[in-house]
Amino acid sequence: MNVIDIDGSQGEGGGQILRSALSLSMCTGKPVQISQIRAKRPKPGLMRQHLVCVHAAQAVSGATVDGAELGSTALRFVPGTTQAGDYSFAIGTAGSCMLVVQTVLPALMQTKAPSTLKLSGGTHNPMAPTWHFIERTFAPLLARMGVTLEGKLLRHGFYPAGGGEVELCIKPTSEGLSPFDLLDRGAHKAAFGECLVPGLSRRIADRELEALGRTLGWAAEQLSVMPSRQNEGPGNALMATLVHEHVTEVFTSFGEKEVTSEKVARLLAKEVSAYMESKAPVGPHLADQLALPMALAVQASGKPGAYVASEMTEHAWSNLDVIRRFLPVKITVSEQADRQAGWLVSFE
Ligand code: ATP
Repeated sequence: MNVIDIDGSQGEGGGQILRSALSLSMCTGKPVQISQIRAKRPKPGLMRQHLVCVHAAQAVSGATVDGAELGSTALRFVPGTTQAGDYSFAIGTAGSCMLVVQTVLPALMQTKAPSTLKLSGGTHNPMAPTWHFIERTFAPLLARMGVTLEGKLLRHGFYPAGGGEVELCIKPTSEGLSPFDLLDRGAHKAAFGECLVPGLSRRIADRELEALGRTLGWAAEQLSVMPSRQNEGPGNALMATLVHEHVTEVFTSFGEKEVTSEKVARLLAKEVSAYMESKAPVGPHLADQLALPMALAVQASGKPGAYVASEMTEHAWSNLDVIRRFLPVKITVSEQADRQAGWLVSFE
């Protein structure tokens, strides 16, 4: 059996390499062996949230797996056939539900029937896509490929309490995935800031929104406190959504103990300003997450696709390296002459 060897210590050396390798193994049917899992993290190996991703991948693809244990730094994953169906996964802690979605979505969107996912855990976690990023940024781009991803946020979940719940439905396309070009943002349509503060003082939201509005020059009508129930917290996420004709980007900053509301707003404003100063449609997080579905769509259709990213993070480079190991898709990255125009990532 031809097994693909992935060195998990390469590049950014974190959980993303593991998740992308699992997704691609399921999509291609190629077994994978991953060594040195999360070697560049202070606590290497499979943490609970990574283990849930492995179990979820195993459940949807009927894989045979060795090494799926807490702390394990090596995993062998031999996928079976991915089955559409109704799946439930509990992260158990406040680990991110969205990273589980990220892992199983590529395989489920290549099946012939719809699937549902019920997930419990964190819905708004630092260092992970939030529910709102998946809903507003990612899902519309999948729709352009022909896949419907829609769902409901039933309950917010924040670190460390967790308790979030989401339901998602994935409807594959019967016509095959189609890639697209996302080379410019198109016309600016809207920009707004929203704050979630369940279980915490409303004053935190007021201060964060005021500071965000002041720094970005946004008016009061562009700023709001999102509805949430007190028992969904404690948690605090400050989000900025930038809507353009061809892409919607969501940026998020999280409140923490000992961090002032003004600092939370400042960090978010910095991310938003960096995106606004660049002309690129695809922000730094989307740049790594769009690569895998785009590569699958290019392979499935035989047509090229491309996007322009404002920044190429270590996550993005590492993800491209993993994709190249599984798919016969040529990926080229070139910095645009005008630095503000970003990086052109082409798939053919
Ligand atoms: P570890 O680094 O501990 O191994 P991990 O498994 O949680 O952690 P990473 O390898 O860091 O994860 O990958 C995190 C993923 O979440 C990446 O795809 C990244 O683009 C995405 N992400 C991080 N922050 C955001 C954000 N604010 N918005 C959208 N996506 C995000």
